[in-house]
Amino acid sequence: MFDKILIANRGEIALRVIRACREMGIRSVAIHSTADSDAMHVRMADETICVGPAPSTDSYLNMAAIISACDVTGAQAIHPGYGFLSENARFVQIVEDHDLTFIGPSAAHIRLMGDKITAKDTMKELGVPCVPGSEGGVTDVAAALKIGEEFGYPVIVKATAGGGGRGMKVARTAEEMQTAFQTARSEAKAAFGNDEVYIEKYLTTPRHIEIQVFGDGKGNAVHLGERDCSLQRRHQKVLEEAPGPAITEAERAHIGEICANAVAKMGYSGAGTIEFLYENGEFYFIEMNTRLQVEHPVTEGIFGVDLVREQIRVAAGETLSFAQDDLQINGHAIEVRINAEKLPSFSPSPGTITHYHAPGGLGVRMDSALYDGYRIPPYYDSLIAKLIVQGRDRPEALARLHRALGELIVDGVDTTVPLFRALLQEKDIHTGEYNIHWLEQWLEGGG
Ligand code: ADP
Repeated sequence: MFDKILIANRGEIALRVIRACREMGIRSVAIHSTADSDAMHVRMADETICVGPAPSTDSYLNMAAIISACDVTGAQAIHPGYGFLSENARFVQIVEDHDLTFIGPSAAHIRLMGDKITAKDTMKELGVPCVPGSEGGVTDVAAALKIGEEFGYPVIVKATAGGGGRGMKVARTAEEMQTAFQTARSEAKAAFGNDEVYIEKYLTTPRHIEIQVFGDGKGNAVHLGERDCSLQRRHQKVLEEAPGPAITEAERAHIGEICANAVAKMGYSGAGTIEFLYENGEFYFIEMNTRLQVEHPVTEGIFGVDLVREQIRVAAGETLSFAQDDLQINGHAIEVRINAEKLPSFSPSPGTITHYHAPGGLGVRMDSALYDGYRIPPYYDSLIAKLIVQGRDRPEALARLHRALGELIVDGVDTTVPLFRALLQEKDIHTGEYNIHWLEQWLEGGG
C-alpha cells in the first residue's frame, strides 16, 4: 500500500480523498493555487504544496508542477478527483512514465472512452445497448441530412470529444439540421479543439440512468446498481438519487450484469460510470466516465462501501474487497448539489461565507469545503457543497432532505438551496415522475 498520496484537486472532492487516506493510514499531500492557500483541503491535508497561480491552467491543470510536487513530497500516487486532469490520458501517461501511480484506469481506457465514437463502438461490441445513430463521425451536412431521414427527426448532433453538456445540438426537422450541425461543430472546435461530431436519435422523454461499475484490472468486475440523475439543467445534473425510482430489481440485475461483464472483458481498472438514457423500459448507452463521479456518495450510502478507498486499493494492486453477491442495497439516498449561484439566472455568486452551519443527525452527510469566513474564489466550479441524505425508503429520504435543508445555513453568498426547498413542494418529485426535461420545463414555468 502507498505511504503517501497527492491529491490533484480542490474543494469538497479533495477533502473526500483526504478522509479516505486518513482512515487507511496514508499520508495526504494537497496541491493548491495561490487563490486557494486558505482553502479547507489545504488545512486538512498532512502536507501542502503550491503549484501555481489562480487560473486552473497554471495550477490544477499544470502537469509539470504536479509531477514536481510528487517529486518534492515523495508522494507515490496521484488521486485526480473529478474534473481537472481526471480524464486526461496524456497526464496518465506522464504519471506512469515518472514511475508514479495514477489512481484510476489506464491511459488507454481513458482515451478509448474519452472519444464518444470509439466508446460507443466498443460498448456495442461488448453487447451494451446504444442509442441508434450514425456509424462513427459525420463530416458534412449532406451526410447529416441522410442520417436524419434514416432515423427520423428529432436527432441530436454531438461532439465526440464532448463533456459538460457542451457541443450538443438538437435538430427537430431537416431545416434545422444545417444550423444544428454547424453550431455543434463550431462549439466543439472552440471547447475541445476537435470538431468531429456524430448523430444519434434524440430521445424525447428519457430518464438519465447511470450504472456504477468497478474493475480490478485483472478481469474481475462488479456493478453497484444505478443512480437516477434525470433532474438536469442545461444537461448538468442538479439532484441524484439511488436506487432509481423507475428501475425494477430485474432491470437493475439485467443492465448491471451487462455493464459488469463489459468492464471485466475490457480489463478495466478502478471506478467507472456507464451512462444510459432510459425510455419505455429500454436502456441506451450514451457515454462512460472513467473516474469517480460527483454523485458517488448516493451509491456509497445504499451499499455501505467506500468507493475512494476501493479506488486506492485497486490502484495499489489489491483485489476488490467485495464480490457481486456481497453488494446489497439498503434504503434510499438522495444528493443535492449546492452551488454558489444566484437564482433564477444561476449566475456564479462567489464571495465570503459570513456564517456556515452544516446539518447533521441520522442519515445526513455533508460533503463540503466550506467554513465560517471562507472566501469562495471566482476562478473555479461553483459547486460548494453536496448534501446527501439517506432513509429506509424514498419517502423517508425526502423527509430527511427537507429537514436537513431546514438546518443548513450558508450566509454571505447566494446558493441553489432555495431551488431544492421549492422542488420538495412538487408532487412529481415525491412520486418520482420526472424525466431529463422536467426541471427545465418547471423552471421555464416560473418554478
Ligand atoms: P456530456 O458528456 O456533455 O455530459 P452526455 O452524452 O453524457 O454529454 O449527455 C448529457 C445529457 O444530454 C444527457 O444526460 C441527456 O440529458 C442529454 N442527451 C444526450 N444524448 C441524448 C439523446 N440521444 N437524446 C436525448 N437527450 C440526450
